[in-house]
Amino acid sequence: MKCPKCKYIKNEKNAVPDWQCANCGIALEKYNSILEVSDNQQREYVRKNNLEKTINKKLMRPVYGLIVISIFYIIVADDVGDFGGAIFWFMLSALASFSAYQMKSTGYFLGPFCRLMQREEHRVEFMINYCVIQLGSLAAFIVGIRYLN
Ligand SMILES: [Zn+2]
Repeated sequence: MKCPKCKYIKNEKNAVPDWQCANCGIALEKYNSILEVSDNQQREYVRKNNLEKTINKKLMRPVYGLIVISIFYIIVADDVGDFGGAIFWFMLSALASFSAYQMKSTGYFLGPFCRLMQREEHRVEFMINYCVIQLGSLAAFIVGIRYLN
């Protein structure tokens, strides 16, 4: 058997037990199982990291949308009239709703400084965020309707 650590190959002349490497003295099976554990941990870490990246993208999408249409509105606000104003507020409302939907479907939300936070670990903060966003969506919708009147 070849040692996984020092690559030494055992021969009959070596006077050590079967489980041990004759060169560096490690317990072969134990060393292999430790390697396996750290390999699994690494895989789990990569998996979690990728998952969080995907979720982060999903949550940031409505935020980017909000920034883009806000900048657009600021630039053209004087020219769009009441109808344009209504469209703007309806879009804000839809984006806020979309944001709440993404929170619910992923089970994550963006905390301070856009830090990804999990609902399971921060239930109260999640509910507060969710309610504020839904209320914001409703408020924006009402403002939009008032533009039309
Ligand atoms: Zn060895």
